[in-house]
Amino acid sequence: MTTERADILIIGGGPVGAALALALRGTGLGITLLEARAPEAVSDPRAIALSWGSRLLLERLGVWPAVSPATPIERIHVSQHGSFGSSILTPDDAGIPTLGYVVDFGSLFRALHRALDAGGVRVQVGARVSGIEALPQEARAEYESGAKPASVAARLLVLADGGVLAERVAGIGFRETDYGQSAVVAQVKTAEPHRGVAYERFTPEGPLALLPFGDGFALVWSVKPESAQELLNLPEADFLIRLQARAGTRAGRFVEVSGRSSFPLRLRRGASSTAQRIALVGNAAQTLHPVAGQGFNLGLRDAWELAQAVRDVAPEQIGTDPMLARYRARRRLDSTGGMAFTDGLVRLFSNADPVLALARGMGLAALDALPPAKRFLCRRMIFGSRG
Ligand SMILES: Cc1cc2nc3c(=O)[nH]c(=O)nc-3n(C[C@H](O)[C@H](O)[C@H](O)COP(=O)(O)OP(=O)(O)OC[C@H]3O[C@@H](n4cnc5c(N)ncnc54)[C@H](O)[C@@H]3O)c2cc1C
Repeated sequence: MTTERADILIIGGGPVGAALALALRGTGLGITLLEARAPEAVSDPRAIALSWGSRLLLERLGVWPAVSPATPIERIHVSQHGSFGSSILTPDDAGIPTLGYVVDFGSLFRALHRALDAGGVRVQVGARVSGIEALPQEARAEYESGAKPASVAARLLVLADGGVLAERVAGIGFRETDYGQSAVVAQVKTAEPHRGVAYERFTPEGPLALLPFGDGFALVWSVKPESAQELLNLPEADFLIRLQARAGTRAGRFVEVSGRSSFPLRLRRGASSTAQRIALVGNAAQTLHPVAGQGFNLGLRDAWELAQAVRDVAPEQIGTDPMLARYRARRRLDSTGGMAFTDGLVRLFSNADPVLALARGMGLAALDALPPAKRFLCRRMIFGSRG
């Protein structure tokens, strides 16, 4: 088996790995990206809410106009089921033109890969990595492409594989919290237009989000796994009745649902985002609950900051302990904050405790009345720790 050489090897060409590869173009470094799937084969039913901050980063990567259709989010209405208190977030609260955009995962994935086709990175699709090994001077990955085994050695190996291979990296311990929830995702239509409003409604079973997308909404409904299975199997009319009962009438009358699917939800965090000659980005570094749509936005900032950490050093310093320490330091606050924010929301709201419901209602009402608090929250959600 021959071993190819690269300066940086990225394993996983999902949205975060692909963004990292784009951010490293023009450095003159040898970048190899191995992705198990072919971009055309990716059909993923989830919609992704991109923050305004992510739009700015995607523009810098030269991808933004190509991610379409993208539906702007003009307002976010936050409420809780069965209790008082609500808050409305607007772009003015954060001092930005729009709160964000909703895109579908497949279009995002393909737009990033089309940008990679322009060159500057060696991209190999249909290449599944089976093993990695980190040595003091380099890291290696073995992969199979068309049943042929091959390997790549690099100064820095980046795990952007969503989290499977990282478990095998020596020295990084992972903690996992199973939320006992699954997300039911679907496209739903209402009798009335959405007017760019997103709804985040907290229910005792889990949060329910309606994101304006095209001429309807993308639904992300967190429920117990057994309820998720039931919701997937319900006849359309019964599903719409159940949804209406949970979501209320603020978004309008639900008239159509399509593309139902479900995802298990968990929080998974590594004790470190680096190991010898290895850096973790995106879901490989931290997998979050989708409440408030933080996961990809945070992962994109991982990719951007890792690319900056690489650009800041001479080629022979890439993948060394000092360079990796700088990457860790750049990401610690944002990553910990993102995890604490989403985890806190899920824990605080996913219960029927009447005392907590009262406190939450008062908190939402207070948030609505306090512009500085809203500004802080919006900017934290949109730009991360630098907000
Ligand atoms: C229901 C749901 C809704 C969500 N909504 C939002 C949202 O609104 N906003 C938001 O910001 N985030 C959202 N997220 C989170 C978001 O989807 C993830 O954070 C994002 O997909 C992470 O991207 P990634 O590239 O790190 O990992 P992934 O998307 O998991 O990509 C990993 C890639 O690595 C490849 N790969 C895996 N193993 C190997 C291997 N051995 N060899 C080679 N390649 C490999 C895979 O094929 C894949 O392409 C949501 C998540 C869920 C579940």
